[in-house]
Amino acid sequence: MPGARNCARYRRLVKGRRCSRNACTRPATATLTYVYADSTAVLGPLATYAEPHCYDLCAEHAERLTAPRGWEVVRLAPDQVDTGPSPDDLEALANLVREAGRPTPAAEDSMVEVNRRGHLRVLRSVED
Ligand SMILES: [Zn+2]
Repeated sequence: MPGARNCARYRRLVKGRRCSRNACTRPATATLTYVYADSTAVLGPLATYAEPHCYDLCAEHAERLTAPRGWEVVRLAPDQVDTGPSPDDLEALANLVREAGRPTPAAEDSMVEVNRRGHLRVLRSVED
């Protein structure tokens, strides 16, 4: 099951990461991302993967973080961060895909019956 494997990998990555500050050996609890285009330092929950311009920080260094001159610090609460689709979202999506693949009787709703000959019905599209 690919989902389960990704999850285990995520946990291992997060668990093994330490604060990136010199001489600090505390485990990382937050990720600081520099958005150079906006002169903004974004401090959020520990990122899944280490990326360029991202620095992992321990709780203490995250708390003491100050922005460089001219920069703004944005602190994200964990519940403000989009953590991706939940299992419920994925199931809803799977249902939508199944619905889309099913021949739908609703197609006839956009047609109006204009004539009937025996067992044949002459239909035209409502849009016409
Ligand atoms: Zn630290």
